[in-house]
Amino acid sequence: MPSDAMRDLIAGYRAFRAAHFDAPEGARGASGDASGARCIRSTLRELSERGQNPRALVVACCDSRADPAIVFDTAPGDVFVVRNVANLVPPYTGVDFGHHGTCAAVEYSVAHLEVPLIVVMGHTQCGGAAAGLRKYGGDPNGDPAVFAANEATGEGFIGSWVALTKTSVCAVCEKYDPDIRARMLEHELVRNSVRNLATFPFVRERMDKGTLEVIGAVFNVFDGTLKILDAETGEFVAPQKFEDDAAAAGGDDVAPDAKRAKAA
Ligand SMILES: [Zn+2]
Repeated sequence: MPSDAMRDLIAGYRAFRAAHFDAPEGARGASGDASGARCIRSTLRELSERGQNPRALVVACCDSRADPAIVFDTAPGDVFVVRNVANLVPPYTGVDFGHHGTCAAVEYSVAHLEVPLIVVMGHTQCGGAAAGLRKYGGDPNGDPAVFAANEATGEGFIGSWVALTKTSVCAVCEKYDPDIRARMLEHELVRNSVRNLATFPFVRERMDKGTLEVIGAVFNVFDGTLKILDAETGEFVAPQKFEDDAAAAGGDDVAPDAKRAKAA
């Protein structure tokens, strides 16, 4: 007997089939229009025959409220996505036969699919960032034991993973008051992942050649807005600035030849 949760998922699948497969070909696109320009059925068939050629890798958090496919309104084949707790990209440490799922996704999308853009998308109210803050932030209400290695409870994986946040947590705690540390850490973790991406030789090489762009962003769960990391100032700004910059550049000499992630 399936659980309510599984029944809901199957109902969702039925709705997906009805919307995109059961109607006549081209009768309805993903956005409900009649043009068929974004018909998921034909898109998937074409992708199945030709293979994928995504225009970006998105590194995002597992959080159920911050889904890149929804935030960027993408169709199948548009973006290659890897999600982990707190959208962390580890620094390059070479191949050591550890289980580096995120690094493998970065390698595949960059070195094999040759995506022209990587977006690290953090989000507000990130539980992974909060775990890092509790572990390393000296919070009197924190409980370091919760995130100590504990294979019996499984908590050890969280504690071990958020060790990647330590440098960022320390930097934020030194610079900001406690009441804004969580928000500032969410920003800093995105900056840190952007920096760490550049330590991968195959990423660095393409960035230097101008064929790969790496951009940070933070999605606000409360109001659904996205802010993008300005590489010059290190601040997160409204997407309008990037649209204005692209327009000012005429769209001709923007290197690399990557479409900037569409933002709300
Ligand atoms: Zn998160």
